[in-house]
Amino acid sequence: MPDIVLTTLNAKYIHAAFGLRYLMANLGPLQSRACIAEFDINQRPIDIAEQLLAKTPKILGLGIYIWNVVPSAEVVAIIKRVRPDIIVVLGGPEVSYETDGQKIVDLADHVITGEGDLKFAEVCGDLLNRSGVSLPKIIPAELPDFSRLALPYDLYTEDDIAHRIIYVEASRGCPFTCEFCLSSLDIPVRQVPLPALLDQLERLLARGVKQFKFVDRTFNLNVNVSKAILEFFRARYEPGHFYHFEMIPDRLPEALREAIATFPPGALQFEVGIQTFNEHVGGLIQRRQNYNRLEDNFHFLRGQTGVHIHADLIVGLPGETLESFAAGFDRLIALGPQEIQVGILKRLRGTPIVRHDSDWQMIYSQHPPYEILQNKLIDFATMQKLRRFARYWDMVGNSGNFVQTAPLLWRDASPFRAFMRWSEWLHARTGRTDGIALIRLMELLFEFLTSELGQEPRAVAEKMWSDYQRGGRHDKPGFLKNHLPENAALPERKGRSNLPKRQARHLV
Ligand code: SF4
Repeated sequence: MPDIVLTTLNAKYIHAAFGLRYLMANLGPLQSRACIAEFDINQRPIDIAEQLLAKTPKILGLGIYIWNVVPSAEVVAIIKRVRPDIIVVLGGPEVSYETDGQKIVDLADHVITGEGDLKFAEVCGDLLNRSGVSLPKIIPAELPDFSRLALPYDLYTEDDIAHRIIYVEASRGCPFTCEFCLSSLDIPVRQVPLPALLDQLERLLARGVKQFKFVDRTFNLNVNVSKAILEFFRARYEPGHFYHFEMIPDRLPEALREAIATFPPGALQFEVGIQTFNEHVGGLIQRRQNYNRLEDNFHFLRGQTGVHIHADLIVGLPGETLESFAAGFDRLIALGPQEIQVGILKRLRGTPIVRHDSDWQMIYSQHPPYEILQNKLIDFATMQKLRRFARYWDMVGNSGNFVQTAPLLWRDASPFRAFMRWSEWLHARTGRTDGIALIRLMELLFEFLTSELGQEPRAVAEKMWSDYQRGGRHDKPGFLKNHLPENAALPERKGRSNLPKRQARHLV
């Protein structure tokens, strides 16, 4: 039985816990006395506790994040009631700041704040050796130096490679200061030594990994490094390979553009945080970006490359009105990213956005994920509409199931206003924002476009039928049959790929 069990509750089964693997890789001689046990938030806390207790560890290390803090607290509570002698050590962003009064912190023995890659091993050593050192409850970790860190990639199992997302990182930290973001805290950017990283990537490729998700907050910060990594992957590219990077949108120098343009369509995905097009809001939250350069980069990416762009906007920032958010959304639609994530502002522990609480009357939920409920410029009822808008946009605008149909909603009108009208209509009809099956959603959208907007049924049906087949489906939905010719020919669909489903539908 292991003395140390490293555990966390992932948001989904397919998310392999990267942080746990870093901790494990850096346990040194204690590694042989440790194991990783991963769960996900859809499992019952009591069942998770049962499995952890069965391992009879001396130390239980838990990774705590915004998505798992509530069920994790339940797990810890059960474990501490059944086996109070098990030493519970917490780590992770959700317990690295503002620990006072947190239920899970009260239940635990120790909390390592900050990047615990090396500190966890040190703490476990002290606890297991009973060296007489009395450790404090809150243990701040010094920033680890990457040259001292063991990289964790050999800890991805064959099962991980077959079924889960493989996370990698080339750097940590961010030099920017966006006040809503944890990465903006005064943490220097550190680079993983490139030769060691490329060596690990080579090994992962040899083991059959086809899809890599880089967790770097700003992959294109160091152009030489990002170019070297892109060239590394391009030289080894095979159909089905897919590489995801988070980028800052206004920094794409020529050298990087050249490397990006060599990739086949669908191989690269860039997550591009824009957050707001309102310069006044950008100034308030210390996020400055060059909008001309940003637009130029979008034109390049959409016009001259096959990069899949996932762009982020945030609702509820201080100083952002409904009108300015709408204008930003429409401006982004015109730039043509395949996906727009409409995120609701979260008040993350430790972030300096709290300095606006009073001036902008920012009211957040007290429960994770601490989303904004209302502020001085957007009342609760409007915020709820925007929350629904975000959810429905994900189902219709982002899913890849309505690539040709969705633009029928707005045609020459404001995409924001038009989609909001549909969003409110859909909510009035269904009363819900989840659990709407695809065919039902199609049927409702068809009804809205033809009855509410008066569009010609056959033209709508053709677009919808074409979209429907993007996912490789051939069963014509019943409600479309009357509006399509008997033997409507199937358009030729070339090259169904092994890409993630959503991205593949956008690409077809
Ligand atoms: S939002 Fe992006 S650019 Fe801004 S601090 Fe966070 S990671 Fe850096």
